[in-house]
Amino acid sequence: MFQALHHPPAYRQTKLPNHCIAKKRRVKNNARRDIIIAVDGPAGAGKSTVTKLVAKKLRFLYIDTGALYRALTLKAKRLNLNLKNKKVITALIKKTDIKLIYNKNLLKVKLDNYDVTKEIRKLYITDGVSEVAKIKEVRQIMTELQRKLAKNNNSILEGRDIGTVVFPNANFKFYLDADFRERVRRRFKELKEKNKNIKTKLVKNNLSTRDKMDSTRKIAPLKMAKDAIYIDTTDLSIKEVVDRILSWIRI
Ligand code: C5P
Repeated sequence: MFQALHHPPAYRQTKLPNHCIAKKRRVKNNARRDIIIAVDGPAGAGKSTVTKLVAKKLRFLYIDTGALYRALTLKAKRLNLNLKNKKVITALIKKTDIKLIYNKNLLKVKLDNYDVTKEIRKLYITDGVSEVAKIKEVRQIMTELQRKLAKNNNSILEGRDIGTVVFPNANFKFYLDADFRERVRRRFKELKEKNKNIKTKLVKNNLSTRDKMDSTRKIAPLKMAKDAIYIDTTDLSIKEVVDRILSWIRI
């Protein structure tokens, strides 16, 4: 049903140094597993930009987990389905094909073989996605998919529940956060580039609604993993955040 087509650079980490803060993930026979970096946090905290850059630097596979939920939301919207109808949305995910296609550092999202990379970023999708993402069965399938995507790859995944649910044993966990006002400013700037008529109020409402829905849902709510490294990005440049993350990952 789902698939990731990618051309990850031939990078394999063979050994983590002793001073590394991360737990070494080992399988029963003591063989090393691929390295997983989890980056969680609310919208607008800078996760995507930073995660992509860290992935490029380390030559890790970048997995944008929000894109998966967005693609499913787009399909439901196109079919005019009620996003709150758990049964209908669960049935839908079972007959949906979502692919993340990587070419060099560009990520393309394909929904039933159509390129939806740009469409899924639009506000009408952003407005509905948290409704779809709170459905238990949807999360179960998405969680499995994310684990499958990361299998056999050194990967960095960004999302809401990566360090808590998808990869609780991730080697490195980060939680990126920023002041609400700053997050609104960043998201507004980003959306303004594509839509000149966008209003701050719309962005503000969307962020606060999503913050609330994502952090209060019963299944896999947005929260910091106990062993995650917290980074407040409010007053930091992109480079500073990237450097801070890289400074923890001595490999
Ligand atoms: O990261 P992004 O803003 O693209 O995520 C869109 C939405 O997808 C989030 O607001 C959240 O509802 C959902 N999501 C999630 N779990 C993830 C990633 C995203 O619930 N791991």
